[in-house]
Amino acid sequence: MNQPPMSQTMQQARPLPVVSDRHVDPHAYPDGIAFLDGQYLPMSQAKVSVLDWGFLHSDATYDTVHVWNGSFFRLDLHLDRFFGGLEKLRMTIPFDRADVSEILHNCVALSGHRAAYVEMLCTRGASPTFSRDPRQAVNRFMAFAVPFGSVANPEQLQRGLRVAISDKVRIPPASIDPAIKNYHWLDLVRGLYDAYDRGAETALILDFNGNVAEGPGFNVFCVKDGRLSTPAIGVLPGITRRTVFDLCAEAGLAATAMDVSVAALRGADEVFITSTAGGIMPVTEIDGTAVADGKVGPVTSRLMALYWKKHDDPAWTSEVTYP
Ligand code: PLP
Repeated sequence: MNQPPMSQTMQQARPLPVVSDRHVDPHAYPDGIAFLDGQYLPMSQAKVSVLDWGFLHSDATYDTVHVWNGSFFRLDLHLDRFFGGLEKLRMTIPFDRADVSEILHNCVALSGHRAAYVEMLCTRGASPTFSRDPRQAVNRFMAFAVPFGSVANPEQLQRGLRVAISDKVRIPPASIDPAIKNYHWLDLVRGLYDAYDRGAETALILDFNGNVAEGPGFNVFCVKDGRLSTPAIGVLPGITRRTVFDLCAEAGLAATAMDVSVAALRGADEVFITSTAGGIMPVTEIDGTAVADGKVGPVTSRLMALYWKKHDDPAWTSEVTYP
């Protein structure tokens, strides 16, 4: 049967609302600058095709680094992880490390933000024929700088987060290598809804053995008798997690990556989570029960202070030159 011409179809069509009542302004974006197709743009103009494999299949890798007091924190480690992910996913971009570093610096400088959340990402891209062969897609590099954001808000940082342990299982490493930072977040998002349903503020989900894995955008540590442990398998090797190991080495604290059972987490003296988005953040309640005495513990407080102090260390930072 012949299709009616497009104009007729549209005339007969019921008028649709332009915006949903939940997204009143479709053009509201965080204040920032993006880099896309060789251009620096306001965030509102940085758009991708709906045919991009990154959007249709979560076929992408990315990394997020932060800027604090006008300096990047451990940018080299983030670049290592990003370029490692590109290689493992067989993606190529027309930029080397120095180029990407310059693009990120430019995004931040043009945004003017002295505290920024800075993301570099590469999608598989799209192919002109909508081919199902990923090799036909043209990989697409993008970057952006927006204001710094944290998993925990200032009140939560002070009193500690209320976390729920969801029974959702993190996608196993045999399916997706967690060292490739990725957008496969349905397990994490389902865990978040479990947490909200139970009155908690965020979630931890499990690995394929039933041990604790990680949460939406963060790793987790527990402290027992002065010794730290963090899940070893099925988790993103976070840069903040790595930073905790480095800080522990400097401070003479024992820290080990190992299996962390749900019981070990519940029985810990202290629990904290780690992310570029917020640093080291205390957890004081798990599934409605206080962790130890329910107060932010001394090891967590000490590491939080050391973490932020390192933001003034030239060995771990690189300064942005603002116009
Ligand atoms: N785990 C997951 C799943 C993440 O997405 C992130 C960060 O986005 C982290 C852990 C923490 O990694 P990092 O400390 O490098 O920010």
